[in-house]
Amino acid sequence: VRIAVLVKQVPKVESLELQPNLRLNRQGSELEMNAYCRRAVSQGVELARAMGGHCTVYTLGPESAEEVLREAIAWGADAGVLITDAQFAGSDTLATARALAAAVNLDAPWDIVLVGRNSVDADTGQVGPEVAELLGLPFAGGVRQLTVGAEGVLVSCELDDGWRTATVALPAVLSVAERLIAPCKAPAEARRQVSGAAIRRLGPSDLGPGPWGAAGSPTRVGAVRVFEVVRRRRRMSGSVVEQVDEAAALLEEWGATGLNGAAACRDERPADSRSGLVPRSDLASDDEGALSVVVVAEPERSRVTRELLGRAAELASSIGGAVICAGSELEDHSLLDSWGADRLLELSGTAVEEDVANALAEWVAETSPWAVLFPGTLWGREISSRIAARLGLGLTGDAVELDIAEGRLVCWKPAFGGRLLAAITTVSDVQLATVRPGLFAFRDPRRPSTRNVPISTVCGASRNRITIVGEGVDGGMWELLAARSVVSVGQGVLPDEYGLLDPLLKVLGAELAATRRVTDQAWLPRARQVGITGHSVAPGLYVSVGASGTFNHMIGAHGAGTIVAINRDPTAPVFDWADIGIVADWREAVPMLADALTGKSPQPRISSVI
Ligand SMILES: Cc1cc2nc3c(=O)[nH]c(=O)nc-3n(C[C@H](O)[C@H](O)[C@H](O)COP(=O)(O)OP(=O)(O)OC[C@H]3O[C@@H](n4cnc5c(N)ncnc54)[C@H](O)[C@@H]3O)c2cc1C
Repeated sequence: VRIAVLVKQVPKVESLELQPNLRLNRQGSELEMNAYCRRAVSQGVELARAMGGHCTVYTLGPESAEEVLREAIAWGADAGVLITDAQFAGSDTLATARALAAAVNLDAPWDIVLVGRNSVDADTGQVGPEVAELLGLPFAGGVRQLTVGAEGVLVSCELDDGWRTATVALPAVLSVAERLIAPCKAPAEARRQVSGAAIRRLGPSDLGPGPWGAAGSPTRVGAVRVFEVVRRRRRMSGSVVEQVDEAAALLEEWGATGLNGAAACRDERPADSRSGLVPRSDLASDDEGALSVVVVAEPERSRVTRELLGRAAELASSIGGAVICAGSELEDHSLLDSWGADRLLELSGTAVEEDVANALAEWVAETSPWAVLFPGTLWGREISSRIAARLGLGLTGDAVELDIAEGRLVCWKPAFGGRLLAAITTVSDVQLATVRPGLFAFRDPRRPSTRNVPISTVCGASRNRITIVGEGVDGGMWELLAARSVVSVGQGVLPDEYGLLDPLLKVLGAELAATRRVTDQAWLPRARQVGITGHSVAPGLYVSVGASGTFNHMIGAHGAGTIVAINRDPTAPVFDWADIGIVADWREAVPMLADALTGKSPQPRISSVI
C-alpha cells in the first residue's frame, strides 16, 4: 500500500503574534504541525506498517516547514517532500492544492492520500477536497475510523451534526478527524536525528508552469480586523449566596439574560435591513446565470438553506439580481419561494458530494452566476472545493458575514480561532463562498408563496465510487448555533449530574454545550463541542460550568455577549475570559443562580458531594 500524507505547519494559535499590519509574524510565533495533520501522519505510518507499505509526507511552506517533515519521519514515515520557493508565497487554498497535487502526482500512483480535516489556523477544510478533484479521486471527510479491504476502504466519518459510514473505492483522498488515532508527536531530539537525505525539496520548475503562489491564487485578502472582546472580568465576592446575588444583579443590569427581551442579538444590522421584505427581482431575463446568487441546498438541512436564502435575497436585491436555489433533493418549492428563492435548479441523478459537484460545475461554467453560496458544512466544503478546483474559481471558506463593495462580494472570514477577521474577495468571474451556519437570523418569509417557482433541471450522473452504508444526526448542533443563551459544561460536571442544570437551562431557555474532554468521553455528542476543534458560538449569554477555560475551548465562545464562569478553583483560566466570575462548587451555585434569575431569593444549599 502506498500512502501520501499532506501536512501543514501552523502557528500555535495561543502563541500567535501579529505584525502592526496584522500579518502573522512567523518569526515571533511558535510553529507546529497542525493537530489534524498529526493524526493523518499517525494513520499513514500505522497503515504502511500493518500492510507492508510506504508512507511519504508532503508539505508546502517556507524552509521552516522542514521541521514538520522531520517530526513525521521521526514518528515512522519513510520520506518527506518539502515544496518550497519564494514563488509559492501567498498561496491561497487552491494554489496550495495545485502545488500539492502536482508534487503528489510526480510520485504516483498512490492508494490513499491522507490530509487533516482542516487546519486550525485558516480552518477552511478546502485543500483536501481540492486535491481530490485535481487528482480525479473520491474524497471522504472527517474520517474517525477506517478499515482497508479488498473492495476499497470502509470509513466512519464525523459530520458536523452527526455521522456517516461509507465505502470508498481506492485510490482515494481521506481527511481525518481528531478521534481517528493518537497524534504523531516526536521530541526535538528525535527530529534533529532525522537524516536530511530523507527529505526531498521541490520547486516551481519541478511542478510545472504554474502560475504559483499569489499569482495563481484567485482570492485576495483585504482589510483585516482583530476580533477583540474586552471582558469585564468582575470577580464576585463573599459567600456563594452573595456571589450569586451580585452576579444576578449584574446580569439584570446589563440586560444579558434576555429574560426581558434584551439579550444581545447576533443580528446587529440596522432594523430596516433585517426586515426580510426584500422586493422580488424582475425575472424577465431568460439568462439564468446573469447576476444570480445561487444557494446550494444540502439535503435535510433546511435550517441552513433558509438562512442562506434569506441572506442571498438581500445580496440579490442589492445587485438587482435573482436568487437560484440548487440542490439534489429540493424541499417544498413554495417554502423555498417564501424563504427567498426566485428560481430552482434541480440536480437530478446525483447522490453524493462528488456527483453534485460534477453536475453543478458544468452548470456554473455555462451560466456564470454572480456568486454561489454553500453551507459551511463538510458537505458544502467538499462541493465548493471541487467546483473551485475544477473551474479555477476563487472560494472563500467559512464566511461569517457577506458584504458587497464595488459590485463584488466581500466575505468576512475568521482566522486563527476567530482572533482575526479578514475581508476576502475573489478575482474570478464567479465568486464562491461557504458560509458558517447559524450566524444569520432567519428572515421573515418574504411573502406567502402563491405561484409556481420556475424550475430547471440539470441531469447529473453518479460515479459510483462512494456508497453510503449508514448516516445519522446526533442532534443539538443547529439548536446550539442558534441559541441566545448557552450553558456549557466541562468535566467538572459528571453526566449523572446534568439534571441539576435543568432549572438554569429552563430559566435562560439555554442550550447545552460542552468542552472537548466531555465529548471525548462521549458524555455529550460532539455536535455540542465548543472550541477550536468544535463549534464557535455567539450567544448573548454563555455560562461556563465546571470547565477550566483553556484557550482551545474559550476561543469558540469569545463572540458571546456576556460570559459567566463558575469554577471552584480561583486560579482557573476561565476567569480571564469571563465578565462575571463565581468561585464556588457549581452544584451549589447553579441552582441558586437559577432561583435568583427566576426572582426567588437564592437559598444556600449544602452540597452532599464536594
Ligand atoms: C489541538 C487541540 C484542540 C483542542 N480543541 C478543543 C476544543 O475544540 N474544545 C475544547 O473544549 N477543548 C479543546 N481542547 C482541549 C482543551 O485544551 C482542554 O483540555 C479542555 O477544554 C479542558 O476540558 P475541561 O475544562 O472540561 O476539563 P478540565 O481542564 O479538567 O477542567 C475541569 C474544571 O472543572 C472544575 N471543577 C471540577 N469540579 C468542580 C465543581 N464541583 N464545581 C466547580 N468547578 C469544578 C475544575 O476546577 C477544573 O477547572 C483542545 C486541545 C488541543 C491540544
